[in-house]
Amino acid sequence: MKRLLPTSTAGSLPKPAWLAQPETLWSPWRLRGDVLKDGKQDALLLSLMEQQQADIDIVGDGEQTRQHFVTTFIEHLDGVDFDRRETVKIRDRYDAKVPTVVGAVSRPRSVFVEDARFLRQQTEQPLKWALPGPMTMIDTLYDAHYKSREKLAWEFAGILNQEARELQAAGVDIIQFDEPAFNVFFDEVNDWGIATLERAMEGLTCETAVHICYGYGIKANTDWKKTLGNEWRQYEYIFPKLQRSSIDIISLECQNSRVPMELLEMLRGKKVMVGAIDVANHSIETPEEVANTLRKALQFVDADKLCPCTNCGMAPLPRQVARTKLKALSAGADIVRRELLG
Ligand code: ZN
Repeated sequence: MKRLLPTSTAGSLPKPAWLAQPETLWSPWRLRGDVLKDGKQDALLLSLMEQQQADIDIVGDGEQTRQHFVTTFIEHLDGVDFDRRETVKIRDRYDAKVPTVVGAVSRPRSVFVEDARFLRQQTEQPLKWALPGPMTMIDTLYDAHYKSREKLAWEFAGILNQEARELQAAGVDIIQFDEPAFNVFFDEVNDWGIATLERAMEGLTCETAVHICYGYGIKANTDWKKTLGNEWRQYEYIFPKLQRSSIDIISLECQNSRVPMELLEMLRGKKVMVGAIDVANHSIETPEEVANTLRKALQFVDADKLCPCTNCGMAPLPRQVARTKLKALSAGADIVRRELLG
């Protein structure tokens, strides 16, 4: 029997300090060559073990083999020049020097499929794999070739579909696309963002998810959140179309966020990964706090469709903090599970 309220993480988890500099985004690797390759596999095993010790039901790679959730995928593509950098405003929020699209983009070989096969051999548990979504990819690049955000997004959607199909064949149960950009560019999301995402998922028989959050707990994001007022209603603009889309699961930020929980009603019928762990601070939620967030969500999400999760990736957190937060997530889910089962 499938467990009620299966827990999972949004994706990234901290890496061991011997592999990469801790508590840093785009953290540089501390190993080289074959030693790095072995080190990444060891980190995959450790990360899996930490998720299992925290009683996480749907496990993942903890993004141990990637430096960054968007950049690492793009590094494996042709058509993007990482030496040619231009400054762009990411998420309409902060400047970053990003690589340039200089020609037709393509995926000469698979990116994460070998990692997925390796992890699949280690566990029978459901496996979720995160990929960047097309809109978030184009928002992290300067485009000197297609000169159209939409055109480039469609190209990336085709490439992501190739990778997703291979991940599915490797035994991945849920393929998740990370689209923090969906919280910013509402018109584009409705015009072509969701459509390109559906293209990326075309032909998949495994479950599909989209993760839409307010970003990692970095300063640019926490400063932005301060400008959003008392009620964060960003989700309201995109939920109607998401509800009608073919995407199975919507992953959202709900813990300590000012998102009015009743917005979830607009997704009724979809599975929802409810973020019940804040990744932007180091204080550990109590199981009762987690349970409270889940109980609120249950007013708007059917119990068999609710999956307790983290707000976002935990890569920048100290390892011990992330570990303890995951345990709080499981303990909180357990409280509510017992209430539901009576
Ligand atoms: Zn996120």
